[in-house]
Amino acid sequence: RGKRAFIAGVADDHGYGWAIAKSLAAAGAEIIVGTWVPALNIFESSLRRGKFDESRILPDGSLMEITKVYPMDAVYDSPEDVPEDVKSNKRYSGSSKWTVKELAEAVKQDFGSIDILVHSLANGPEVTKPLLETSRNGYLAAISASSYSFVSLLKEFVPIMNPGGASISLTYIASERIIPGYGGGMSSAKAALESDTRVLAFEAGRKHKIRVNTISAGPLRSRAAKAIGFIDMMIDYSLANAPLQKELSAEEVGNAAAFLASPLASAITGAVLYVDNGLNAMGVGV
Ligand code: NAD
Repeated sequence: RGKRAFIAGVADDHGYGWAIAKSLAAAGAEIIVGTWVPALNIFESSLRRGKFDESRILPDGSLMEITKVYPMDAVYDSPEDVPEDVKSNKRYSGSSKWTVKELAEAVKQDFGSIDILVHSLANGPEVTKPLLETSRNGYLAAISASSYSFVSLLKEFVPIMNPGGASISLTYIASERIIPGYGGGMSSAKAALESDTRVLAFEAGRKHKIRVNTISAGPLRSRAAKAIGFIDMMIDYSLANAPLQKELSAEEVGNAAAFLASPLASAITGAVLYVDNGLNAMGVGV
């Protein structure tokens, strides 16, 4: 049987989630995705209308199939956690079962089990503010959407993951080196995500034989990255200074994720794998 992958954080064809879905599909996996509730309608209608057809083309010429798209909001674990104003928001009330617990239950009901869990989402409402100017709420919101969201997803999906399964998240080097401009507590959120990768690798490995790794990806002009406002500068900086002087493609990150999710990586867990043209290894810009 082919493997089944659930990819959380796909809402268009520009980001890492989409690229990871494609690499996994090219390797023979069945693809199901989770899309942030406010982005669901436009993503599903674009998919239906064929807007992504060109980006769906796999190396063998066939089109990537997405078996099912689930609405999700990774900052809520169960219906009791959802505030009234969100519940009554038109975009949210138009969908159902989008808290993390309900999502895992729905996937279980529809598919029984999965083999691969990908977390490709982040959100920091104050990302454009320096850490020194970040509010407590902004900081906690960044951690909730970008770090605890992974703990919560893994917690709810582990029971339906087959032993030998793998989970992968996406991180950024701002967790360990100073990257001015990556503010609002997002650098802190990525540090938490990387630390949690190690602890969760231990817990999920011992208990369920599941591997947990994270990819520290170089800069990509995704929707989320454009919102931060400094992505072109980061891409230029990498081009000028990295050992490999080429623009990083989302596909290169997708392929590394497919490797990490595969039996080829059966002894790799708790790792932060850099997929950044080697930029992390530089000490000074040249
Ligand atoms: P993206 O916009 O394609 O993906 C981010 C996704 O998160 C979006 O689909 C958005 O709808 C979703 N999202 C936001 N809040 C959510 C919530 N509460 N619940 C569910 N989904 C939610 O952008 P991307 O850059 O591909 O981001 C994917 C991952 O890659 C993120 O973890 C990001 O930090 C990481 N990353 C990106 C870069 C880069 O330069 N783009 C570099 C390193 C790491």
